[in-house]
Formats: sequence, C-alpha cells, structure tokens
Amino acid sequence: MLKVSVLLVVLTAAYCFKSYDRYKIVRVDVGSEANLQSILSLESEGLLEVFSESRLGYVDVLVSPKNLAKCQKSLHSIGLRSVERVDDVGAQILQEKAALLSAAPMADGSYSYDSYHRYDVMISHLESLVASHSSEAEIVDVGTSYEGRTIKAIRMTADISSDESDDKPMIWLDGGIHAREWVSPATMMYIIDSILGEQETDKSDKMGELLAKFQIVVAPCINPDGYEYTHTTDRLWRKTRKPSGCRWGKKNWFGGCFYRMCYGADPNRNWAADWGNSGVSDDRCSLVYPGKEPFDQENTKAVKTYLENHSDKLKLYATYHSYSQLFLTPVGYTTTKPENWKHHKKVGDAVVAAIAQRNKGTAPYIAMQSAGLYPASGDSADWVHDVLGLTDSYTFELRPDGNSNVGFELPADQILPTAQENVDGLLALIDNIEYNNI
Ligand SMILES: [Zn+2]
Repeated sequence: MLKVSVLLVVLTAAYCFKSYDRYKIVRVDVGSEANLQSILSLESEGLLEVFSESRLGYVDVLVSPKNLAKCQKSLHSIGLRSVERVDDVGAQILQEKAALLSAAPMADGSYSYDSYHRYDVMISHLESLVASHSSEAEIVDVGTSYEGRTIKAIRMTADISSDESDDKPMIWLDGGIHAREWVSPATMMYIIDSILGEQETDKSDKMGELLAKFQIVVAPCINPDGYEYTHTTDRLWRKTRKPSGCRWGKKNWFGGCFYRMCYGADPNRNWAADWGNSGVSDDRCSLVYPGKEPFDQENTKAVKTYLENHSDKLKLYATYHSYSQLFLTPVGYTTTKPENWKHHKKVGDAVVAAIAQRNKGTAPYIAMQSAGLYPASGDSADWVHDVLGLTDSYTFELRPDGNSNVGFELPADQILPTAQENVDGLLALIDNIEYNNI
C-alpha cells in the first residue's frame, strides 16, 4: 500500500515536471573550439542541448528520442564521433525524485547530508548556525535574485563583532551558480558546518586557526532562482530565470514571440573576462547564452559587487561546480598559460593529492588549466583573477567523474564522501595560496 502511494506521489510530481522520458545522453568527441562551435550550432537548431562542461576533449549532449537519428546523422556529417551513454534520462530523474520524496522532512534549522535540500532549508540552517555560533558567524545579504530571493552567505571569523575582524584577509567560496549541480550547494553546507565545528570535529584546532587568521565567507547557492526551478519544474535547468527575450529576437504580428520566449543566461559566462568570445552561443535559449552584456543577471552583479567591495582583503576565491572531478586553474578563455601558472600548478597538485588521500580507491580529481582543450569566456574565477588581480582564483568540478553515467543526478549517498574529500581539498588549497607563502 505504501509503495502504491509513493508511486502516486511520484507520478503526480512528475506530471508537473519536465519528464525527459527516453532522452539520451550522447558523448561527442570535441577536442577543439571549432568543433564545439559546430555542436553549439546544432543546439541552436534545436537538435541537442549541451549537457556537461568537461574540458577533457568531449562534451556530453542531451538528445530527445525524436531528434536522435537526425542528431547522430548531423554529428557524423561534420566528422564528430559520438557514443550513447545514457539510455533514459527521464528514468534517472524519476528515481532521484522518488528518493527525495521518501526522505524525512527537515526540522526547522536542521540539515542532513543524506538528501538534497531546498534553498530555504539551507538558509534556515545558516541562520540556526549563526544563532548557536554568534561570536564567530553572521549572515551576509549579498543581494537579491531576479525572482526576489535573498542571496545569502555566512561570514565566519573569530570575534566577529570586533572592528578588527572586518580587516582580516578574506576567503570567499561559492556554490550553486549552475542550478542543476546539486552536489555543489550540499558540499558548501558541509564546508560551513566543518569550519564551525559541527562536522569534521577532529579538525577543530585547524579550523580555529583559520578563523583566527581569516574571515571566511561562504555563499552556498548563488543562483537560487535556477536551483529552485530544478526542484519544481526542470531538473536539468542550468541558467538563471530572468527572461532574455524572444528566440532570435523574432516577434510575431501580435507582439508575442515567433518561436518562443527564452529564459535566463549562463551565470558562469556572464562575467566581464573576455566576455562573449568563446564557448558561448548568441542563441538566447542556449544553455551557454552569456547574457546581453556582462553582469546583466542580478545574481552575478550582486556577487561581483560584494567581491569588488572587499577586493583589498580577498586572498582566495573558489567556486564549486559539478561534474568531472577537476580542479581548474585560471584562465579558461585561452589555453595560453597565465604568468602565475607555476604557482597554480603547485596549488593544483597539492589540492588533488589531499582529495585523493581522503577517499582512497575512488577516481582521482585532475588539476588542469581551466581552458582545457577548448576555451570558454566569461567565468567568475577568470574575472576575479584578471580584473581583481587575484592569483588564487579557482574552480572545482565535484563528483561524479567524467566517466560516470549519473551526471548531475549524483545519488545522495555520494554527498558525504564528496563533501568530506573537499574539506581536505580546501585545507590544502588554503595552505598553498600565495598569502600563506610569502
Ligand atoms: Zn557548472
């Protein structure tokens, strides 16, 4: 009887939800910017959607059953090899939905790492942490999203009410800029809990030292509109939710859209670092549409403003994405190495070694320059590196690894190992930044 009622709830929820029934994930060998542009052209024709953000020489694309044959033919005709990786994305999403619905509801202020949680649950937990750690934590309102949600961060440092605490060197971490990358905000929450001694209790001395030396600001989910949309409507939504206009700008005689209205911009292509030049699409409905201009999305503008206002203190910027298990060093818009690449290499080696040490036997993370085999413009870490002039500005790509078939629907039992290994990765990162080595 219980099974039947759970199934009914799943089916009811699925009815309001974009189904992705029998949609496939197809891996396409890319290897160059020109090939990536060919794939983006197919996306503009509506044949596929870019799915993964791996820079390792391939791109996973999402294809509807209706478009599969035509898409494969088009890829073949432009000389790109492809192989089917996932047979039914819709089934994976339903499975995840069923697990979410069977998870125990959260009491006010509490949090768990055996399930993915909504934005209000995260914020309520941050508020509860501030209440119980009032001498070392406070909520920061970074700004307001397009749909009116407050983008919240938690600022943590010893003796937080003192004037001196405002002048301490700052570490900024953010997660959830891409809506569907659920393990990112979950990992951010675990890092916050660990810094405040609620998790990883054996590291409390180390965390105490960090809080004495730094002010650490963590914004677990800086695209809350997109994140909520992935819970309510479309699990694979990546962008923000601000309307970006009619597809190709074309209106019909009645003033509506000739094709359809497009929503959102890719918030990690929206920053003013080589904005709009590579790895992007001018199709407003594309998953990698960079916006009309840099910072035209409320959430990127809010974070940018906060970082600018604290740039004199900022010593480390790290942003967390999924998936592929990578540690990406600047810059991403060109494969040319930046001046400080030797430092980046040293930091990257230390970070991936620390992660590997924590969860032995699992696929290792790989450290590499963000551009990988083909570049992408306008990402947050490059803006911090180039415009704020901060050497230590990095991007994590969390679990699963690039060979996994689960993609963004990382099973909830993987949250904890992902988060744990990234506490160790973060500690190694902090130990190796320039500020700690002059
Ligand atoms: Zn991402």
